[in-house]
Amino acid sequence: VPDVLVHRPRTLEELHLHVEAGNPVMGGGTLLVPRWQREGTPAEVVTLERISVATTASGGYLGATATLAAVAEGPFPAGLRAAARRVATIPVRAQATVGGNLLGWGPRCLLVPLLSLNARARVLGGAGGVIVDLALERAVGERRVLVGVEWRPPLHSTYRRSQRARIGPPEHAVAGALVARSRAVLLRVAVWRAGTVRSASVPAGGNGVLADLVEQLGGVEAWQRHELAEVVAELEDSR
Ligand SMILES: Cc1cc2nc3c(=O)[nH]c(=O)nc-3n(C[C@H](O)[C@H](O)[C@H](O)COP(=O)(O)OP(=O)(O)OC[C@H]3O[C@@H](n4cnc5c(N)ncnc54)[C@H](O)[C@@H]3O)c2cc1C
Repeated sequence: VPDVLVHRPRTLEELHLHVEAGNPVMGGGTLLVPRWQREGTPAEVVTLERISVATTASGGYLGATATLAAVAEGPFPAGLRAAARRVATIPVRAQATVGGNLLGWGPRCLLVPLLSLNARARVLGGAGGVIVDLALERAVGERRVLVGVEWRPPLHSTYRRSQRARIGPPEHAVAGALVARSRAVLLRVAVWRAGTVRSASVPAGGNGVLADLVEQLGGVEAWQRHELAEVVAELEDSR
């Protein structure tokens, strides 16, 4: 990025100082750089690319600097990988990060599968650069600095989205996951419609699973009910 001083701190404490100084966090720059081209660049920005907790990833944890391409190809739940694969184009996915997807101003497609996994956010806390664990929706709503997201690996997960244009936000999306709890297996879903995400969970295998989910979601439109029914059937079949 021309004419911008890019800080790459190695510790959360240093990162916190930069954020406190008002320096914007930059991920892959796929949203920020076009905005700067229109509105002018800031003098300084800060990245998380040298902060180890923001760059590591495993089956149940994803650092905020992971690219969408890495998510699509990595050892992550199938629903999350499928969602990452459907965002934007190959060049954008190679650069765009998880942090920018969740905290930027795009449609946040990763939020749907992550909420179906009941993922938690690791965000930058107060002085000293402590990490705080928050519900993901709250972290997004409060526009916190995201360090990573964490979830309990599911038994199975899946994702569906529909869209008219090949590139751009979906008209709707549904994600589901089957998650083992100490005594039960839960079926969790998240649905996306017009920028709003809602989630619900019920014990798997019961009578009226679909109706219970629809009720918890506060109702869904007919075509979304169809996708939801497919997701529920796939999850139940995987048991
Ligand atoms: C052609 C095109 C099609 C697209 N289609 C879709 C789509 O279908 N679905 C979808 O979900 N998205 C879509 N997007 C948006 C895409 O997901 C974002 O461009 C991308 O994820 C942003 O990531 P980035 O790392 O480049 O963010 P940046 O541009 O670096 O940053 C964007 C914002 O996020 C903030 N940010 C970045 N990292 C963090 C962090 N760790 N903590 C807090 N804030 C942070 C920045 O401060 C900035 O405000 C599309 C984008 C393009 C260009």
